[in-house]
Amino acid sequence: MKVQLVILFTLSAIFASCQNNTKPAAATSTTMQNDKVIKTETEWKQILTPEQYNILRQKGTEAPFTGKYNMTVDKGTYSCAGCGAELFTSDMKFDSHCGWPSFDKEIGDGTKIKKIKDLSHGMVRAEIVCAKCEGHLGHIFDDGPTATGNRYCVNSISLQFAPADTTKKK
Ligand SMILES: [Zn+2]
Repeated sequence: MKVQLVILFTLSAIFASCQNNTKPAAATSTTMQNDKVIKTETEWKQILTPEQYNILRQKGTEAPFTGKYNMTVDKGTYSCAGCGAELFTSDMKFDSHCGWPSFDKEIGDGTKIKKIKDLSHGMVRAEIVCAKCEGHLGHIFDDGPTATGNRYCVNSISLQFAPADTTKKK
């Protein structure tokens, strides 16, 4: 019994010291915290176009069927237009006929895109934002036609597309 208690105390002490060690590191950076991109509104206005700022930072929505990636079928990767985080690949894109680029899943294990309950405009929706810079991407719905059931409905303006380099293939 005594041995067990000692082990417990030792583990608690190790855990406590780990926590203490992580605190100063997180506090030293003002623009990057836990791999996040944090900028002031003035800084965002400097690096984004007015259209990008309206959607990414003020949660605007581009008019349906007007976005530059709505009908894009080329192979490549879609990144966040605000911070460059890779979010989707062309393999995840499908034609949802809803007027915005739509994807059935995201790159990685679900940590790249944050889902936030959105009750605006009299609807219950889940807003999706880039986890790295908090930029507004669009909304996610559970009525997707593919196996995942997910439909990430994303503004083209929130995305930056990089075509796959097919010249490297042999
Ligand atoms: Zn981002």
